Amino acid sequence: MVEEFKGIAASPGIAIGRAHLFTKEKRKIVRKEISSKLVESEIKRFNQSLEKAREYLKDLIDRVRREVGEKEAEIYEAHLMMLDDESSFIKPVEEMIAKERVCAEYAVEKVLEKVISLFRSMESEYMRERAMDIKDVKELVISFLIDRETKREELSMKSVVVAEELLPSDIATLNKRMVLAFVTDKGGPTSHVAIVARTLKIPAVVGTGDFSTRIRGGELLIVDGDKGLVLLNPTEDVISSYRRLREKKEAVLDELMRETKFPAITVDGVRFKVFANVGSLEEVREAIRYGAEGIGLLRTEFMYINRESMPTEEELLEVFLSIGKLMKDRPIIVRTLDIGCDKPLPYVRMPEEANPFLGWRGIRLTLDNPRMMKTQLRALLRAGAYGNFKLMFPMITTVEEIRKAKELLMNAVDELSSGGIQFGEVEVGTMIETPASALIVDLLADEVDFFSIGTNDLTQYIMAADRGNARVSKLYNPLHPAVLRMIHKIIEEAHNAGKEVGMCGEMASDPRAIPLLVGMGLDELSMNPSSIPKAKKVIRSISKKEAENLVTDVLSSKTLSEVLDLIAKFNKSEA
Ligand code: PEP
Ligand code: MG
Repeated sequence: MVEEFKGIAASPGIAIGRAHLFTKEKRKIVRKEISSKLVESEIKRFNQSLEKAREYLKDLIDRVRREVGEKEAEIYEAHLMMLDDESSFIKPVEEMIAKERVCAEYAVEKVLEKVISLFRSMESEYMRERAMDIKDVKELVISFLIDRETKREELSMKSVVVAEELLPSDIATLNKRMVLAFVTDKGGPTSHVAIVARTLKIPAVVGTGDFSTRIRGGELLIVDGDKGLVLLNPTEDVISSYRRLREKKEAVLDELMRETKFPAITVDGVRFKVFANVGSLEEVREAIRYGAEGIGLLRTEFMYINRESMPTEEELLEVFLSIGKLMKDRPIIVRTLDIGCDKPLPYVRMPEEANPFLGWRGIRLTLDNPRMMKTQLRALLRAGAYGNFKLMFPMITTVEEIRKAKELLMNAVDELSSGGIQFGEVEVGTMIETPASALIVDLLADEVDFFSIGTNDLTQYIMAADRGNARVSKLYNPLHPAVLRMIHKIIEEAHNAGKEVGMCGEMASDPRAIPLLVGMGLDELSMNPSSIPKAKKVIRSISKKEAENLVTDVLSSKTLSEVLDLIAKFNKSEA
């Protein structure tokens, strides 16, 4: 009988195949006492295992960089850094061996388990998932201490890999060409298995509870990575209908990919810029593949996370230059660091706050850390000498914030020019993602060259509905009349002041919202790379004039359902 299991959709696509159960032999670490004479040699043994682990990881990094990509290799670079962590790893282990006279594997287990539970207790999901990295490092060091070879898991045929959890080092041991899909009992949408699966375009469902204990290797599965479903022992009928669905999806995707080559021009001849939001070098490559005409939002946070100290100006410059090289002369809008609330950094002390989304985040935090901000601004100005870079500030609520941020920029310009360091001019823009900034677009227009609407935050602040809270998700919708009126006003005010305005919130990729944004005359739509083909197709199929009429009707709607009805009617008439 076919059984259905629900998990979290972690990477889209459909896979049909036999299960390969990925199991790890569980090793038991026992507390072995050693005599005081052996303390020194035990510490030496520990250091030797670290050396072996380092060599293993360096090798792995090379292989992953070649076979998978830069982003995945970075995961192991972070592991390498953890191995060298004196204060929370090496020293405490050595001290425990010396003071408690215990064997090295027991000390490693105890010390790192403490760090792991600390990470697991953190509020941020991202930090909780990093506990997996520490566990991975722990397993690696112990495997060298007890002299066990780390071997590559062999997949004899293409299979759906099912596991309780997959650590980065487990994934590295798999031959990805043989993996049809991943299914794991543990993990969330930002776990490594999810990231790797999305990058490699392998369907994945995570968080399936106890699924791996409910099946045997070789059983037939359908993995639906769009819906987060796994079907066990499907009937012939179900298999055929999933096959048809898969073919349909592939055909739609092929057709959509053809759209990427063409500019987004409406049927009455008005062109709209379609840009990409990116947060890594990998995503810049994706953006180009999907036909992005520029980067509308470079989330710089990726240059700061997964490390233990602030990146240097040179390190930042190097990343900017790599992006500039890929994008050639296409514009790249770089957002200054937007950390705080859901995006903490281990090396920036952030106090507990009752309302983090209303707290110390984005520009508020970076203006209070001028040195950190200046380093980023200097690196960007220097990159400006080589590419079409623009600068954008997040979470602005007042004119004073923009002025202060620009003052820091001018300081950076003065420093670079008096130091004889080459730099380029960069345009300055601001995000409009708070109601306060939306209401003073005319005043902000005197301070900046362009605007970009961040509807992800703007919607939550207008509707007073947390963007991550499922209970109020009905309210969290940018198509509500209040949000639409606000967006309309922002665009109008910006244009009255002669300034361009784009949108980098998720709304820009919503096919239902695009006719409204076209009708309101938004200059640029920026979205996750894989949404670009569909967005271009929508723009190319509608008339700007008709979209303007739709906007007039929608702005006098009273409810969300009226708005949705008007959009549905418009789509029918334009089809
Ligand atoms: C937004 O708020 O719309 C936005 C693009 O920023 P982020 O999603 O990074 O907060
Ligand atoms: Mg935002």
